[in-house]
Amino acid sequence: MRIRKTAAAGAVVLALAATATACGGEKGSAGDKPAGGEVYSGTYKVASDVKVDSAVLKKAQKAKKIVVGVKADQPFLGFKDPATNKYSGFDIEIAKMVAADLGFSEKQIEFKTIDSNVRETTISKGDVDFYVGTYTINDERKKQVGFAGPYYTAGADLLVRKDDKAITGPETLKGKKVCSIVGSTPLEEIKKEKYGAKTSELSKYSDCVKYLLDGQVDAVTTDDAILKGYAAQRPQKLRVVEKPFTKEPYGVGMNKDDKALRDAITTALESHIKNKDYEKAYKGTLGKSGSKYTAPETPLPRY
Ligand code: GLU
Repeated sequence: MRIRKTAAAGAVVLALAATATACGGEKGSAGDKPAGGEVYSGTYKVASDVKVDSAVLKKAQKAKKIVVGVKADQPFLGFKDPATNKYSGFDIEIAKMVAADLGFSEKQIEFKTIDSNVRETTISKGDVDFYVGTYTINDERKKQVGFAGPYYTAGADLLVRKDDKAITGPETLKGKKVCSIVGSTPLEEIKKEKYGAKTSELSKYSDCVKYLLDGQVDAVTTDDAILKGYAAQRPQKLRVVEKPFTKEPYGVGMNKDDKALRDAITTALESHIKNKDYEKAYKGTLGKSGSKYTAPETPLPRY
C-alpha cells in the first residue's frame, strides 16, 4: 500500500486502494453491464511482407507477435472482461488496426495492461512495442516516448454521484475531495491551487470510481471519454458534469528514437481514418457511451 500526500492546500493523506476490485469486474451490482449493447470488435486486413527499418518491429517480426500496452478498466475504451479475459473498446480497435498494418493479426497481439503511472518507463524499457491507452500527447512526455496521432481529442471532466447537484464544474471543487490517477494529466491540472480541491491519488481509475460510489470522495476527474464509460455502466448512480476543462489529444506511444515505427504507425492511423474503419469502430465503442463522433484531421502531424 502506497501513501501519498497531496500538493494542494490542506494536504490530506490518502491511501492507494490496493484491495479494491476493478469496476465492471464486480459481480451482481446493478448496471455493471455496459450500456448500449455489445461493444464492437472489428477484423482488419493484415498487411503482408512489411518492411520497415524499425528495431522494435524487427524484433516483433522475429517473435511473430507484437506486444501492445493498453488499459483494462476503461469500459468502451480499453476493458478486459474478467469472465473471458478478452480486451475490448476503442483503444483496442486502434491497436488492432495498427498491428494489422504492421503485419500482425489479432491472434498475434499480446495485450499487456499498463496503468498511467508506468507508461513512460514501460515503453522506454521495451516491455511493450507500442501503447494505446487514453495517452495524452504532450511535450513533457515526448522527452521520454514517441507519439503518433492525435487519433482522438478528449477533455478532462468530472464524474459525480447522480444526486450531487453542488458540483457543476471545476470551479465548484473548493474543499471537495477529488480522486484521480498518479501520472495522469487531469490529476496535475486539478492539483492547481486555484481549484482548492483535496486529491486522492490512486493508480487505477476503477478504484477512484469505487471511492466515489462509497462516498469516500466527491468526484473523479479524468478524460470525459473515460468518465462517460463509467457513467454508462451505472446510469442510476453516476453522471458526468460535461464541462471539459482541458484538451487531451490521444496518441499511440512508442520508443522515442524509433522514427521508422512512428512513421509507420502514423500512416496506419491515417489509412484507417480514411477507409472508415476508424468511424465504424468509434461508433461501436466510444459512441455507445455518449462521446460524439468527430472525424480526426488528416494528415496527422509528423516529426
Ligand atoms: N489522457 C490523460 C493522460 O494521458 C488521462 C487518462 C489516462 O490516465 O490515461 O494522462
